[in-house]
Amino acid sequence: MKIHEYQGKEILRKYGVATPRGFPCFSVDEAVKAAETLGAQLATKRWVVKAQIHAGGRGKGGGVKLARSLDEVKTCAEQILGMQLKTHQTGPAGQQVRRLLIEEGADIKAELYVGMVVDRVTQKVCLMASSEGGMDIEEVAANTPEKIHKVFIDPVAGLSDAEADAVATKIGIPVASLPQARTALQGLYKAFWETDASLAEINPLIVTGDGRVVALDAKMNFDANALYRHEDIVAMRDLDEEDPAEIEASKFDLSYISLDGNIGCLVNGAGLAMATMDTIKLFGAAPANFLDVGGGATTEKVTEAFKLMLANPNVKGILVNIFGGIMRCDTIANGIVAAAREVHLSVPLVVRMRGTNEDIGKEILRDSGLPIIAASDMADAARKIVHAVSGK
Ligand code: ADP
Ligand code: MG
Repeated sequence: MKIHEYQGKEILRKYGVATPRGFPCFSVDEAVKAAETLGAQLATKRWVVKAQIHAGGRGKGGGVKLARSLDEVKTCAEQILGMQLKTHQTGPAGQQVRRLLIEEGADIKAELYVGMVVDRVTQKVCLMASSEGGMDIEEVAANTPEKIHKVFIDPVAGLSDAEADAVATKIGIPVASLPQARTALQGLYKAFWETDASLAEINPLIVTGDGRVVALDAKMNFDANALYRHEDIVAMRDLDEEDPAEIEASKFDLSYISLDGNIGCLVNGAGLAMATMDTIKLFGAAPANFLDVGGGATTEKVTEAFKLMLANPNVKGILVNIFGGIMRCDTIANGIVAAAREVHLSVPLVVRMRGTNEDIGKEILRDSGLPIIAASDMADAARKIVHAVSGK
């Protein structure tokens, strides 16, 4: 699950990480009021108006603007609020801006990068840090990876003072600011750990003219499997930022992820679903989605799954791949027939079905009178659906 920058900063503040003062705003009026409230104590006489969307690269896309007066705050807020912001992470359609963050403009002396992810190979948290922070970190990673320093943090020991100081020194934090950098890095690690984050990133982490170490941006993603123990984080969810198809799927307990291809996939089991997508690719086409109906799929669930896939205008054919273990093939066959009738299925449907009550399941499909293309194995199924949608 993702959250907005201002929410990430709220969390980081609780862990002692310094951030600029700021307020989230939902209208231009609120933005101007927030700027006034900040203004009284503003040393730099600068405000920053920031689009809040669940994607990075906002600065380059015109979603982060510096204002030197309240009038400029108003103009910037008017420009950014409601805009369709396109960044390298939003896709070509962009994302509509519905929230702003108005914060005090910082006096930036250096822009650094720090980020954390779970490293599954070492079973540790990997801290990445670089002196080359700011808006081009992707290029740094691609062209000069030696400028990104890594520390693998042992979860039993946490991030030690010595480790924090060493990495802070490597990224160019001046000696006088090391205690502040240590607070920021250890705070980031503690926030990452205690919230069950899968990613936490501060880009840029800055050193100010007077030597303070401040988080100017904050990005946090959380492990969905751990959300049950973080009510406060779940409350930060912003459904406007999520894929409507994925929200709909979660209501029916379906694991669904939208993809770019044109073959809808309905599979039971995540592993089989991954293998099915690979097989489609192997035969030269691309899946339109990942969809795992799970072990206890009912007719209702299968019908919802069909509706979801068909709501995507790119879908030109559907491949159903079922292994009947606990789930019996006749149950799923009844579901497919009912679903196909209810949604007036108009695209080719290939079904590969193996396992418990396979023969009864196949008979149900045959007797339904629906134009279902039966397949014997995965290669046969992939070949048939690719042929049906592309004629290849
Ligand atoms: P994104 O990563 O989505 O582009 P950031 O929050 O990192 O958005 O902002 C982009 C750039 O804007 C930063 O690298 C920094 O140079 C500048 N910036 C952001 N917030 C502030 C601020 N409060 N004061 C001064 N400059 C800022
Ligand atoms: Mg940033």
